[in-house]
Amino acid sequence: MRLDVISIFPEYLNPLQLSLIGRAAEDGILDLNVTNLRDFATDKHRKVDDTPYGGGAGMVMMPEPWGQALDAVRAQAPAEKKPVLIVPSPAGTVFNQKMAYDLAEEDHLVFACGRYEGIDERVIEYAHENFTVIPVSIGDYVLNGGEVAVMVMVEAIARLIPGVIGNPESLVEESHSDVLLEYPVYTKPASWRGREVPEVLLGGNHHRVARHRRDEQIKRTAARRPDLIPQLDVESLNRRDRDA
Ligand code: SAM
Repeated sequence: MRLDVISIFPEYLNPLQLSLIGRAAEDGILDLNVTNLRDFATDKHRKVDDTPYGGGAGMVMMPEPWGQALDAVRAQAPAEKKPVLIVPSPAGTVFNQKMAYDLAEEDHLVFACGRYEGIDERVIEYAHENFTVIPVSIGDYVLNGGEVAVMVMVEAIARLIPGVIGNPESLVEESHSDVLLEYPVYTKPASWRGREVPEVLLGGNHHRVARHRRDEQIKRTAARRPDLIPQLDVESLNRRDRDA
């Protein structure tokens, strides 16, 4: 997968060179490119923002540097398939695991990091000519810029690409893989500071372990995320219990 990030703070994205995502880039699974928006500024001060029409506080990112940066990134991609342009914004569709799975299937993702009050809206309109545009929020709060949101999304998406995570089975029972949150996990020692690992996990009975974990998933989801419970597919839960 090719990933392009356009930002006025390219160094912000440096952590993507670390850990599993960095190794995936070294292994050629990911092709990560960061573009400095200021390279497309049209004046000698490399200015990319201006005051908002209609008045109000803050500055707005100017259209021309964005237009040129998007054209340059688009020129890197094959003409026949539009890359997906993700525009981080607190006013976007809220990111979730389903979206991460869908985006992990794409060949080319482009992320446009806003700053200040955001990007001139005509850039988003123009981008539809060359990209499949998706404004995406990582939650109902406001960050200073899109870079942190991009790191969140890239990490969630990239780990779903085959080869990025060493053991793909670790993705199967994770929180949000089937609506339910993950069950509590434990490692050695079996007794720690007077607290014991649940006895059922020590016994080696796979059927009992599976039932215990499923019960814990349901309890935890009901307590922490009751909003998820109506999405549960009871028939598929029953089937999994029968197969366990
Ligand atoms: N004025 C904008 C609004 O109220 O919708 C907020 C602009 S915010 C200060 C600057 C940039 O941070 C945005 O353009 C976006 O790139 C990023 N950003 C802020 N909060 C975000 C969120 N919850 N999800 C994704 N990106 C966010």
